[in-house]
Amino acid sequence: MEIYGNKEAVKRLSEYRANGRMPHSLLFFGDSGTGKRTLAFYTAMLYLCEKGGDTPCMKCLNCERTEKRIHPDVIYVDGEKTSVVQLREILKDSYGASVEGGIRVYILSEFQVLNRECQNALLTHLEEPSDMVRFILTASNKNGILPTILSRTALIRTYPLSPRECETALKKEGISGEEAEKTARTYKGNLGLALKALENKNTRLYFAAVREYTEAVLKGDEYFALRAFAKLPQTKEDKREPVRILVTETAKLFHDALASAEGGKPSCGCDVELAKRLAEKYPPAVLNELCGITKRFSDIVSSVYFNTKSASDAFTAGIFDKVKK
Ligand SMILES: [Zn+2]
Repeated sequence: MEIYGNKEAVKRLSEYRANGRMPHSLLFFGDSGTGKRTLAFYTAMLYLCEKGGDTPCMKCLNCERTEKRIHPDVIYVDGEKTSVVQLREILKDSYGASVEGGIRVYILSEFQVLNRECQNALLTHLEEPSDMVRFILTASNKNGILPTILSRTALIRTYPLSPRECETALKKEGISGEEAEKTARTYKGNLGLALKALENKNTRLYFAAVREYTEAVLKGDEYFALRAFAKLPQTKEDKREPVRILVTETAKLFHDALASAEGGKPSCGCDVELAKRLAEKYPPAVLNELCGITKRFSDIVSSVYFNTKSASDAFTAGIFDKVKK
């Protein structure tokens, strides 16, 4: 886990730790995208790290599982999706022993959106803190939080990066130089928003390329299909991702086209119009075969290792073999 910026926050956490004064409850507050949730998980590591240093070692089993968000004693609660009944139920567990016998950490995000009743439910826990439980809250605005909670909690503000720092962070995340520079500037150093924007942009490009690919299938034009495939954005971490997306999305379209051709209802939530046009163009027997191909390739591309180039070529060849008949 890499913490970009927020040096003050990290320094304060290290000081707490060095002085043996880690608070029982903490609140990270600051604008959306300024690293509150990352810091919350970083703090959970600090509570649980087996090495017990001033910074988490990031290597022990506790650090590793906390980073992957699979530690059984780090409970993440999204304030935007939680009712008072659910929250009470979750907090009730805090009285019992943790799964692994150590400290249990609750991360309550977007705490300011929870209503008074929810906040009061937490307050009772803060008033009589158990030695085995820690609470980490995050909020984009601390004005929405009860003063009685704020007074029992260590408050740490989070800040956006400078555009230059943000650019460096984006490059480390695999974004190309020019795009990193432009996005960092547009979002004024807010790394969270910059990453989200890039992700959305990729999603849009993916869907546009899948649409284009399907148009090529409608025209029976294999060359255009291959060109559309080449337009799928490449991700640095996983070169197989574009093929996976193509196969998954066309599988949905062919499935809905077949459903529509047989008088059923589309159910995959894909482009209904496009599925309908496929159903008008190709008879159910062909659509059925197309479904068969996507099913076969879904199995192939869900494995960890496969050759991207030969898989995508074979996939397209298989499809056009059926539609050109
Ligand atoms: Zn550790």
